[in-house]
Amino acid sequence: MNLTNETENKEQAAGMDAFPFHHDAWWGKTLVLTFVLVPLAAAAVAIGMLWGDQVGWVEIGLLLGMWTWTGLGISLGFHRMLTHRAFTARAPTRLLLLISATMSLQGPPADWAATHIRHHAKADREGDPHSPLEGFWHAHLGWLLRDRMVRSGLAHDKLMADPIVRFVQRTWIVWATVGFLIPAAIGYFALGGWMGFLEGLLWGGLVRVFIGHHITWSVNSIAHIFGTRPYQTTDEARNNWLVALFSWGEGWHNNHHAFPRAAYIGMHWWQLDPGKYLLWVLKACRQVTSIHMPTREERLARRRSRT
Ligand SMILES: [Zn+2]
Ligand SMILES: [Zn+2]
Repeated sequence: MNLTNETENKEQAAGMDAFPFHHDAWWGKTLVLTFVLVPLAAAAVAIGMLWGDQVGWVEIGLLLGMWTWTGLGISLGFHRMLTHRAFTARAPTRLLLLISATMSLQGPPADWAATHIRHHAKADREGDPHSPLEGFWHAHLGWLLRDRMVRSGLAHDKLMADPIVRFVQRTWIVWATVGFLIPAAIGYFALGGWMGFLEGLLWGGLVRVFIGHHITWSVNSIAHIFGTRPYQTTDEARNNWLVALFSWGEGWHNNHHAFPRAAYIGMHWWQLDPGKYLLWVLKACRQVTSIHMPTREERLARRRSRT
């Protein structure tokens, strides 16, 4: 065994300790599958309703409103703040961002973040939870059913040391349910009665979760295959403007893998990044206390020669 292999093995052993994959029981996998398939079925029903011209502005408003709220929750709460410590927020804002993210039905905060820490540590190498090198569908959603989540280990313990994270971790399913009940309640009052309740649940709940899921997963699948790589990285992450357009800025994924702690993932004025714009607002309201960004020199040093 040569030295490189030995170092790599040690690194891997340490990695396994820091963020081991969890073996999910059959009922856990069934639950995940339900979270994937029910929104898919709901989206099919919704397309049928659109076709039949049975959809009004309230339904569309609930879809867009809830999608924006929970999508920004994932991007800022789970991803930039919790996983990468790209900025620090005051406790109430921290709590609100984490709760907003749980409504996306992507699991509890410490599991999400620990799994994502492992993705960065092993990106597109053996041990990456969701590299498209194992196939497009594996990267998109297959990995969810293949024991690739991290639910324990050092990275998970570290995240759980924060009482706010611990609280949201233990109550996440309550907030995920609230994320369905809010649009359903608005539907009840705005559209009238229990039929309105169901329509609110469908558009602001299930269809919104369906869209949110596939957009987050597209960052793992599409943005590791298609797009440009302006910065040098050791993985396949790409800047994909189309994914960025729908993922609150997350699709500038080569920028992100080059500078994981950068709070602003869109690094040029023309790289649309709604997560960045919300951070500006939070900063103006003094809810965010520090924002991490690489210097211009650090960025220039990582740039590839123009292609
Ligand atoms: Zn990635
Ligand atoms: Zn990341």
